[in-house]
Amino acid sequence: MSHTPTRDADVVVVGAGPAGLMAARTLSKAGQRVVVLEARDRVGGRTWSDTIDGAFLEIGGQWISPDQTELLGLVDELGKQTFERYREGASVYIAPDGARTVYSGDDFPVSPGTLAEFERLTALLDQLAADLGAEEPWAHPKARELDTVSFHHWLRAQSADEEACNLIGLFIAGGMLTKPTHAFSALQAVLMAASAGSFSNLLDEDFILDKRVVGGMQSVSEAMAAELGDAVVLGAPVRTIAWGEEGNGGVTVTADGGASGRVTVTGRRAILAVPPTLYSRISYVPALPRRQHQLHQHLSMGLVIKVHAVYGRPFWREVGLSGTCFGAGQLVQEIYDNTNHGDSRGTLVGFVSDEKADRLFALSAEERKAAILASMAEYLGDEALMPEVYYESDWGSEEWTRGAYAASFDLGGLSRYGADQRTPVGPIHFACSDIAGEGYQHVDGALRMGRRAAEETIAALAPAL
Ligand SMILES: Cc1cc2nc3c(=O)[nH]c(=O)nc-3n(C[C@H](O)[C@H](O)[C@H](O)COP(=O)(O)OP(=O)(O)OC[C@H]3O[C@@H](n4cnc5c(N)ncnc54)[C@H](O)[C@@H]3O)c2cc1C
Repeated sequence: MSHTPTRDADVVVVGAGPAGLMAARTLSKAGQRVVVLEARDRVGGRTWSDTIDGAFLEIGGQWISPDQTELLGLVDELGKQTFERYREGASVYIAPDGARTVYSGDDFPVSPGTLAEFERLTALLDQLAADLGAEEPWAHPKARELDTVSFHHWLRAQSADEEACNLIGLFIAGGMLTKPTHAFSALQAVLMAASAGSFSNLLDEDFILDKRVVGGMQSVSEAMAAELGDAVVLGAPVRTIAWGEEGNGGVTVTADGGASGRVTVTGRRAILAVPPTLYSRISYVPALPRRQHQLHQHLSMGLVIKVHAVYGRPFWREVGLSGTCFGAGQLVQEIYDNTNHGDSRGTLVGFVSDEKADRLFALSAEERKAAILASMAEYLGDEALMPEVYYESDWGSEEWTRGAYAASFDLGGLSRYGADQRTPVGPIHFACSDIAGEGYQHVDGALRMGRRAAEETIAALAPAL
């Protein structure tokens, strides 16, 4: 990797997350000259594996599900190994009234009436996900109707069972879009479900949280970057993209960085592989069209605190627990055993989402840690109160991400703008997990979008080659 002031390429890629690196890799394999400009001093974007206080932690994206074939294929191609999440033993459920139940099997330990409602709502969402699909949900005749009602109100229109509605909400709102159910539409929820194959898949932690990469998910991006060598420029936040006439028919991309404080790369095409919420951090000359100006303002990042707690030993396993815990009304809404491959210590990962995260961020760091560990102890006992290592992933504070896990549309936005989110503007193409169908919001979707943008670019350049 290098810090060179002026370069020329066929395609300039902005962002060295999984999407940008996959785009660059695909282009490079097709014989295109490519330069990747990355704002941070590392690659991987929202995948970031680091050792903190002696513990190896997955600060960002980590899990792979069996349907994520683009990612699984790449992991395999790069010669990386995967390992399964620990999943032996019983799970813990905390009901809205605070009652704690240890249970086994797929069914939540709720009343038969709530379970029946939960299953009915699941079947309804599975059907909608199958009918609308992940690639173009906005094109379905029901799209507008589903997009103009919040998921909260849509659920209440289907069922009067609050516990069932909140449990469904947990797996799409708190667990995926990381926004409250009133802040996104039923159509956005259907896209989330369809992107994982079905809503049932989102409920099945053995499916959706199946495997991890030995050495960490960021190592996938690092391996792609290593192949690209000095085509990847770090510490280079892109500030301006001149395109069309101003860009002499191609693009002139200017970033901070390098010895002179400025890096300029000219190219025939650009791939913008950053989250759509960050597009407006870049100046476009000429400005992007009205449609893009509007579209991009209707997407926003969710917010979740990913909590890592590392213990001397995985104490929960000794009492027959898997470490998997759910409680839609609890501060920490879900917990899993996140012990590293070959590690004798035990790691738990927990999640605090949206409005609960807001409340916690208003506290001091000590108060926040105490509140989070107390919530984890309600599920797993007082030993959870004393981890050897404790760390909170705070992506909302990261300038080049600004939230977690990903971006989604506001009410009505998906049916109104979805069809245009992947449409290139002149020589500028778009790629990131936030605009994916299959693998939406996941590393797999980022890779799919990266490959797609690269193929689009190759096709666009072909006649002139
Ligand atoms: C806490 C957390 C947990 C997650 N868990 C999972 C999981 O278990 N499984 C899963 O599959 N996914 C998970 N994800 C989601 C996954 O990490 C993302 O979907 C994926 O990283 C998106 O890749 P991307 O390349 O589209 O975007 P990013 O990873 O965001 O990469 C974009 C890159 O662009 C750079 N950039 C931004 N602006 C500029 C600019 N102006 N100039 C130059 N560079 C710029 C950024 O620095 C970044 O490197 C998780 C995410 C988070 C935050």
